[in-house]
Amino acid sequence: MAGQGAPYLDDLNPAQRLAVETLDGPVLMLAGAGTGKTKALTARIAHLMTTGRARPNEILAVTFTNKAAREMRDRIGRSMGQTVEGMPWLGTFHAICVKLLRRHAELIGLKSNFTILDTDDQLRLMKQLILAENIDEKRWPPRMLAGIIDNWKNRAWTPASVPAAEAGAFNNRGTELYDYYQQRLKTLNAVDFGDLLLHMVTIFQTQPDVLAQYQRWFKYILVDEYQDTNVAQYLWLRLLAQGHRNICCVGDDDQSIYGWRGAEVGNILRFEKDFPGAHVVRLEQNYRSTPHILAAASGVIDANQGRLGKTLWTAEQEGEKVRLIGHWDGDEEARWIGDEIEALQKGTRGLDPLGLDGMAILVRASHQMRAFEDRFLTIGLPYRVIGGPRFYERMEIRDAMAYFRLAVSPDDDLAFERIVNTPKRGLGDKAQQAIQRAARDNGTTLVDGARILLADKGLGGKGGAELRVLVDAIGRWNDAVRRGGNHIELAETILEESGYTAHWQNDKTPEAPGRLENLKELVKALESFENLQGFLEHVALIMDNAGEAEGEKVSVMTLHAAKGLEFPAVFLPGWEDGLFPSQRSMDESGLKGLEEERRLAYVGITRAETLATISFAANRRVYGQWQSSLPSRFIDELPADHVEVLTPPGLYGGGYGAAGMAASASPAIMAVQASDLHDKASRADVYNSPGWKRLQARSSARGMSQPRESRHMVIDADAVSSFTTDDRVFHTKFGYGTVTAVEGDKLEVAFEKAGTKKVVGKFLVAAEQ
Ligand code: ATP
Ligand code: MG
Repeated sequence: MAGQGAPYLDDLNPAQRLAVETLDGPVLMLAGAGTGKTKALTARIAHLMTTGRARPNEILAVTFTNKAAREMRDRIGRSMGQTVEGMPWLGTFHAICVKLLRRHAELIGLKSNFTILDTDDQLRLMKQLILAENIDEKRWPPRMLAGIIDNWKNRAWTPASVPAAEAGAFNNRGTELYDYYQQRLKTLNAVDFGDLLLHMVTIFQTQPDVLAQYQRWFKYILVDEYQDTNVAQYLWLRLLAQGHRNICCVGDDDQSIYGWRGAEVGNILRFEKDFPGAHVVRLEQNYRSTPHILAAASGVIDANQGRLGKTLWTAEQEGEKVRLIGHWDGDEEARWIGDEIEALQKGTRGLDPLGLDGMAILVRASHQMRAFEDRFLTIGLPYRVIGGPRFYERMEIRDAMAYFRLAVSPDDDLAFERIVNTPKRGLGDKAQQAIQRAARDNGTTLVDGARILLADKGLGGKGGAELRVLVDAIGRWNDAVRRGGNHIELAETILEESGYTAHWQNDKTPEAPGRLENLKELVKALESFENLQGFLEHVALIMDNAGEAEGEKVSVMTLHAAKGLEFPAVFLPGWEDGLFPSQRSMDESGLKGLEEERRLAYVGITRAETLATISFAANRRVYGQWQSSLPSRFIDELPADHVEVLTPPGLYGGGYGAAGMAASASPAIMAVQASDLHDKASRADVYNSPGWKRLQARSSARGMSQPRESRHMVIDADAVSSFTTDDRVFHTKFGYGTVTAVEGDKLEVAFEKAGTKKVVGKFLVAAEQ
């Protein structure tokens, strides 16, 4: 028995220690965010190995992501303080199942060198099947079939075991097509992602000796993020664990965020039934976050029904309240967050300076990242995107930019090479070589080379016709750039006439909608520039700076990707109804979707250690239209005592208590803050107020993309009445001052810098005392 002094035990609390040292029988660690579940799980692995309870390869540990597996491996290595030969089976469900399936492939008619199809291959295969069956793929798209089959696989249903209740799926053909699809995969010696688990479950269920072998083999099984396991994963675990019954699962029902992918939070709630006599360990001390952050997160998650409910406390210093700020639009939000990050780096408001590695921006949808990336590139703030390429490095963005480059400069041969056959125009290697030759022989650009080739009738057929369409279009775009018309419209035209947008619209892979979103974001990015040239220069410059610099970086990722992680400072932008919670979850009848969104909010807030900042924008451009949005309903659920409402920067020069706001602010101010509107009635008042309506009208009339507009927003006539003598105010021209007299519409103000002046009340806003 490794006793006192084992380094991995020393810094555990009694409850964690219990979970680590209870080695016999099933253990469930059910606890809220940041209570050290992952830490205890890691210590348990170290403990099993150092005490010799199990050899490393008799331990099976499942994490949710590959990144988490790597981190756990590092932590185990570090925490043991001694070396043990070998490592446990440590990885995601998929990673572990690939390893097992390679050993036993022949049992289900595969060879051990089977290939794993990616989603593109998977869809291509389904499309072939659908066509072979003479099914109208417009009405019954492959993508839909893929969704149905994935879902069935997540439930561990083979074609033979799909229940009768599902018989209507895919126009009554679902089960049959599923069967064909599985047969095709077998002939191809291939599996898709879902098969990795499904096949292993099938093998375990049909080959008792194989199952028995592994049941004996894996003496200890450990699972992190148990709340997000789906049925197939659950069955697989349960089968394996029936041997030694030493299974330790850790999870948090409040952090179940993969229901949309078939995860069943019920698995965690059922643990004690599945494994009678289980030790249930509850951890209640949170070591990650300050009390304000914890209370804000708890306040939000409290609104969910059917929770297990948990106590959470922390011994941390009270710290900063969760900060809440409203912005005029998404660009201003990005600008503010960029400034704020730089301020935190230097150390502000008495906080210690914070490294960039300690800061993260967590978004609901990945297209939100563009505004931040643009801003950070512009101001030279190093950042990394977790779980995907950076915006301007994405394939569809590079393709679209190549078209823009050609429109601006037809000599850009590299751009031409990139897009000549994207989307497919039947211009293969041969045709491209002919273009190159024509260009070389005539000492000209590829575009002109192509024109010469066509004039000489050097390229016929479909390829020739399509090339003609392309070069003609390039010519038109060049003219348009020369004429200097509206560059945003031109960009849209280019994407349309080139067939590039249509290319992604017709693509049925799961990635296609995201790529279309990104293209829309790209067009949106053009707004801040006068023309295409200016924009291209901007991107060229920022991309030049953007090389993989060493050193600290801000992390940008989705909320889903942030699970299990922690950062001293976390920014949570885009808290607006329709974005977060997503429109889809709001449209659904029933609460399921909305509750999952709320858990996502809980995950987001609980990633923060010392500073959490939530923000929203009053306006966003959606599909080229300005839309006013309401602050997220989750903002209403934040407990007011733990929230500090910030005002837009440079406006009042500081924070504003919610109570002060309500007393002095005009409806318009309240709308831009909207933050203090915990009371639904006052929220409705604001949005029905003439001030707000005027502002909305102004915003839709536009010409207002400049961020300074937020000042106009708060300078609204309704604010006048609330000023009295001794009020501290801010004037856009004269700065800060104190009201000395009020005469009807006019106020006398002693300005700090500009002296005493008579001003019209509507040009004033309230400032902090
Ligand atoms: P989540 O639900 O977000 O996955 P978790 O319960 O897995 O959270 P951990 O990530 O394991 O929590 O721990 C959160 C933080 O608290 C980590 O920084 C960890 O090092 C620290 N921590 C955990 N337990 C202790 C302890 N007993 N003493 C000091 N720090 C601890
Ligand atoms: Mg964890």
